[in-house]
Amino acid sequence: MNPSWRQRAACRGLDPDIFYPVTDEEADEAKAICAECPVRQPCLEHALANREHDGVWGGATERERRRLVRQRRKSA
Ligand code: SF4
Repeated sequence: MNPSWRQRAACRGLDPDIFYPVTDEEADEAKAICAECPVRQPCLEHALANREHDGVWGGATERERRRLVRQRRKSA
C-alpha cells in the first residue's frame, strides 16, 4: 500500500525517468521538483528507512542519502 504522503507528491504522474538519473549531475531536474514538493520530508525519511538505493527521494540522490545516514550515525 502506498503511504498517504504519496497522494500529495509533486512527482505524481511525472515521467519516473526524471527521478532515476544516471549520474548525480543529471539529478537537477528531479531536485528542482522535490524542492517545491509538500511531502519532501516524509519522502526522504521513507527512502532512508527503506534503504532505497536508486533514484532521487526527498531531493536527495543515493550518494547524498548515504552521506545523511553517516552524519546521523555520528550525531546519534
Ligand atoms: S520529494 Fe521529490 S521524490 Fe519525493 S514525493 Fe516529492 S517530488 Fe517526489
